Amino acid sequence: MKVNYGSSIPISTVDWHGRVSVVFFLRKCPFRCPYCQNHELLVESKMEDIAVLEKAINKSRPFVSSIVVSGGEPFMQKKACQHLARFAKDNGLLVGIHTCGYYPEVVVEMIYEGLVDKFFIDVKSPLNDPGMYSRAIGCCETQAAVECTGVDPEEVVKNVSESILTVMRSGLELELRTTVIRDFIGDADDVSRIAASISELTGKRDVTYVIQQGIPEHAMLESMRDIRPYSRDEMLGLAAAAHGFLDDVWVRTKESGNEKVQWESF
Ligand code: SF4
Repeated sequence: MKVNYGSSIPISTVDWHGRVSVVFFLRKCPFRCPYCQNHELLVESKMEDIAVLEKAINKSRPFVSSIVVSGGEPFMQKKACQHLARFAKDNGLLVGIHTCGYYPEVVVEMIYEGLVDKFFIDVKSPLNDPGMYSRAIGCCETQAAVECTGVDPEEVVKNVSESILTVMRSGLELELRTTVIRDFIGDADDVSRIAASISELTGKRDVTYVIQQGIPEHAMLESMRDIRPYSRDEMLGLAAAAHGFLDDVWVRTKESGNEKVQWESF
């Protein structure tokens, strides 16, 4: 089997908090987020025999407990994801998937086949605001460096919401996350609205929600590359905005890695 393959990290401690993983980045994505740091994965193709990835898993296996399949959007290559997940499971490893949530039918299939242990789903803007979501994913963004794929923002928010609810119903581990970029997406008001939309969708306050510090230095959109990333203190301020609706809030920064926010210290 061939896979449109980007790259891998043999040993990572940041892509699945609390676990050591080997991480694979698959190519192609239906979105065109202007801040995307993996934009070369969106446009170029490199077909590789999946045996190369199996070999990489075997090499990392003594040092890791899991694989993470990321991208791009891994579910654009469902068969490759299924193959890798089966291979990992046959070798005693857990499987995590980073997804933009656009393919709920693949989420269902992967769960049904028992191939995933944890989903990490992006919530790029409030789930009840297709217009804002459209901006976040670069839908029809004329300045974008890479042409948009013409996804329908209404369908995007519907699909992302469905993916989230499907994982929640399955009882599998779930992390929702938002990448925040100053002056683009993720000020306190945006984060509060995103958290509110998650809580409204799921009917829960205890969903794990991670606010990720966007580093625009390598953004797809050239004009974004000079934007100053939020500092850790500013990120904690954004976490406080989310806390109006959610309790299990984390911040992920270059400086301090993954931190669960302790509300008592606020
Ligand atoms: S940041 Fe956006 S465009 Fe880039 S891989 Fe993720 S979902 Fe796709």
